[in-house]
Amino acid sequence: MDRRVRVRFAPSPTGALHIGGVRTALYNYLFAKKHGGDFLIRIEDTDQTRYVPGAEDYIIEALKWVGIIADEGVGFGDGPHAPYRQSERKPMYRQYVMQLIDAGYAYYAFDTAEELDAMRERLKASNVDSKYDAITRMAMKNSLTLPEDEVKRRLDAGNPYVVRIKLPKKEDVKFHDEIRGWVNINTAQMDDKVLFKSDGMPTYHLANVVDDYLMNISHVIRGEEWLPSAPLHVLLYRYLGWEDVMPKFAHLPLLLKPEGNGKLSKRDGDRLGFPVFPLEWKDPATGELSSGYRESGYLPEAVMNLLAFLGWNPGTTQEIFSREELVEAFTLDRVSKSGAKFDQNKAKWFNQQYVRHTPDKVLAESLKKDVLAHNLNYSDEYITKVCGLIKEKISFIKELWEIGNYFFVAPTHYDESVISKRWNDKSPLVLQDLIQLVRGNEAFDAASFEVNYNEALSKNGVSNKEFLQLLRVCLSGIAGGPPIFEMAQLFGKEVTLERLQDALSNIKK
Ligand code: GLU
Repeated sequence: MDRRVRVRFAPSPTGALHIGGVRTALYNYLFAKKHGGDFLIRIEDTDQTRYVPGAEDYIIEALKWVGIIADEGVGFGDGPHAPYRQSERKPMYRQYVMQLIDAGYAYYAFDTAEELDAMRERLKASNVDSKYDAITRMAMKNSLTLPEDEVKRRLDAGNPYVVRIKLPKKEDVKFHDEIRGWVNINTAQMDDKVLFKSDGMPTYHLANVVDDYLMNISHVIRGEEWLPSAPLHVLLYRYLGWEDVMPKFAHLPLLLKPEGNGKLSKRDGDRLGFPVFPLEWKDPATGELSSGYRESGYLPEAVMNLLAFLGWNPGTTQEIFSREELVEAFTLDRVSKSGAKFDQNKAKWFNQQYVRHTPDKVLAESLKKDVLAHNLNYSDEYITKVCGLIKEKISFIKELWEIGNYFFVAPTHYDESVISKRWNDKSPLVLQDLIQLVRGNEAFDAASFEVNYNEALSKNGVSNKEFLQLLRVCLSGIAGGPPIFEMAQLFGKEVTLERLQDALSNIKK
């Protein structure tokens, strides 16, 4: 039976979404679109102690900015399974906990925090794993050890409790992961996790499984950090009688530090100067501001493309993929098992490729703001042409002004390394002749300027190799830039002459 593909991104609103989280959302989205299925957003906010104001809005805004658009869920319009925020689904979970208790797969536990601590201390002292499990639970206060009427009395009196899963003492739990293959874990290594609390709130594990079931999720695609929880989830499906509709699991590789030694963290970004969050984030508790891809000048299409490649490859040498191409090419079997190292230079490279493909007119809108901010007045046509000439040289749109301001302002400094190497007694003579030749011309364009330049060179017995870089520095002040003669054409005759004249009077060795 072929099942409709339904996947979800299920963030907890505990802070800003790390780019690893955005990648998880992206892989879910690509997988859903590839299979003509549904992608939904569910907010997992059952742990109220970890709730951070603003985090949910941040997550939704970040996904929308990258272009990861959900079919259903918080922030994208409710679908048939509303509500999509677990705190609003609170009344739905109790019946499943009761079902587990009645079938003997879960039990009430009344242990206080002090009693749990004491148990941990005791076990630690005898060098045993300190966990609530098939052995230790028999020495604790729960519905397996207390008389039935005592359990009832405590429940009726409203004593606080939790409900724990009752794991078998020693049993293999085996499941297939779409990325990792077969995974086998023995319940002896697991503990009786809390599923539900007496305030009526489920924990992550129960809510996650119940909602995946109710929302008809076909594939659970999530970060590797959830792999250790997967056997517990498999058992919950089994104990709730849902094994036949259990989703397939795919646990994505970790995003690693550039050096490869450990998980990529905010601190690595601070240390090496790159963002680890999609959007700027101000921590409401500390006021600390973290940089974002958007504010750093990354284009959303570039971010989507670069994230897709952090842990996946298409099996070809193609690296630039539009959204549609990613949807077409994406498969889980090309997601790697090993962690993906974050490479800041590669991230910049992706952005550079997308900047190059941005129409000059669009780039010009950004450059125009800088031009106006400097109280300069240039036509849109001129600004657009500047963008066309220099866009190959930048990685970020905001660098247009930094790199191309000499198109608007005459140089006041001339690159010293070029001057000291190239300027000699003949240089002023070449410039003088060039000025004269340009003046004598009616028309002025790249080709005529080049002819004039060659004439001035041969008249003075100077080679192109000796002078070309100097000519550039005379015109722009700096050593690198677009083709010189095209640049002069855009300056126009008047400005070109002015700049040659300025160079002649300002550059002295
Ligand atoms: N709420 C979990 C998280 O914040 C979701 C894990 C899952 O996708 O099952 O990552």
